[in-house]
Amino acid sequence: MSKQKEKPFEIKWKTDLPYRYSIGKLSVKFFEELKENKKLLGSKCPKCGKVHFPPRTVCAECFIKMELKDLVELDKKGTLHGFTVVNYPFVDPQTGGLRPFPYGYALFKLDGADTFTMHFIDETDYTKLKVGMRVEAVFKDERKGNIGDIIYFKVIREVQKP
Ligand SMILES: [Zn+2]
Repeated sequence: MSKQKEKPFEIKWKTDLPYRYSIGKLSVKFFEELKENKKLLGSKCPKCGKVHFPPRTVCAECFIKMELKDLVELDKKGTLHGFTVVNYPFVDPQTGGLRPFPYGYALFKLDGADTFTMHFIDETDYTKLKVGMRVEAVFKDERKGNIGDIIYFKVIREVQKP
């Protein structure tokens, strides 16, 4: 037998792999309320009280299973905790095409939630963004029951309560 390294046998193949999976009853309710009523639901753990947004089936802190009764409506406003401005073309998973750029993308917490969320923001000049700024959800007029129903979160100016 030759000690010469053999080239491995390969088959080059490009495949299309469509798949679907169950998102669970809490997420179904989340998307129904988003579509029908522009409501933002989170799930509140019955043991530790942590509010997850978007809703989770199991609390990340104490592993308690949550049910539909644990869904709570959250405010449409939140506070910015981090951000970036994307300046290069990127495939938009909602459309499969390239998303127009620049666009803002942020990490924030909705009022009443204990977890962070990421979504698009309307500001594309990063010099105008600061951690602590307030944001508010802007919804599509015709919603389909997916996360794209929230177009982006707009930066808002609010008078701070004393
Ligand atoms: Zn918990």
